[in-house]
Amino acid sequence: EARGQGVPVRLHTPAQGGSPAPERLELEIELRQAMAARALELHYQPIRNLRTGRIAGAEALVRWPHPERGWIPPGAFIPLAEERGLMPELDRYVLRRALAEMARVPGWCAVNLSPQTLHDPGFVPFIREALEVSRVPPGRLVLEITERMLADPERILPVLQAIKELGVGLAVDDFGTGYSSLTYLRLFPLDHLKLDQRFTHGLTRSTQDTALVEGILDLARRLGIEVIAEGVETPEQLEWLKAHACDYAQGYLIARPGPLEALDALARREGS
Ligand code: C2E
Ligand code: MG
Ligand code: MG
Ligand code: MG
Repeated sequence: EARGQGVPVRLHTPAQGGSPAPERLELEIELRQAMAARALELHYQPIRNLRTGRIAGAEALVRWPHPERGWIPPGAFIPLAEERGLMPELDRYVLRRALAEMARVPGWCAVNLSPQTLHDPGFVPFIREALEVSRVPPGRLVLEITERMLADPERILPVLQAIKELGVGLAVDDFGTGYSSLTYLRLFPLDHLKLDQRFTHGLTRSTQDTALVEGILDLARRLGIEVIAEGVETPEQLEWLKAHACDYAQGYLIARPGPLEALDALARREGS
């Protein structure tokens, strides 16, 4: 797991109308260079099917091996990339790379998308072409969008429908952290709902979080959406989720995100 291994990168928001701080400008240039050099890597975190006990798929998470700063986690450069309009390019990079590595991923592979990417009119044609070039069956790809993006249904619904028509899966990430209405859920062609880790962490500790998760599981079941609990760290959380028929679990208890080799090894060990 790369998180926390790099030296912290300080990203200052420039004053209104001012020019970006030199270190941010430098980081932006280096990020552009890293993308051009294909130097960004993907780590994968397995997702376990709680009914069968098998690895069902994995989430691809971008990592930047920086020559001086070590591994820079996405939280340290995605905000900058968003601000500088680089996310459509970065998400395309990750998608292409995940498709190229798909042969070694057991089950499906989930790729995160930022709002900018989803709102780019060229993106759906890009997915279609990338799938054709890679010859990956569309059903093995799942795209993760955040709940916040669902807050603008008129804008986002046609895009999600076009993605569904390609045969690609859709997941709402970090569910429960945004402010989108639960009733909106039924409007969207969603396959998975990813319960944000703060709820998982509250399980069996906070009666409020526990009640909320029970409600979300019940609602998702009625809507035919499968639930993935994120951030599963303890055996107690895992047991609770199994007992309440949550579909999938992802978290450090199962495995930390790691290079393809680690995912390979886990899948081989378990015969997935
Ligand atoms: P996310 O999509 O919600 O991904 C899950 C994050 O939770 C990952 O952090 C993962 O390392 C971490 N995590 C997994 N299991 C546990 C656990 O048991 N406990 C705790 N405390 N954390 C856990 P990571 O890799 O640092 O990524 C952070 C966020 O950056 C992601 O959150 C996602 O929103 C974004 N991101 C990562 N890669 C990409 C990408 O290629 N494109 C876009 N648009 N966003 C990305
Ligand atoms: Mg995600
Ligand atoms: Mg998440
Ligand atoms: Mg998250």
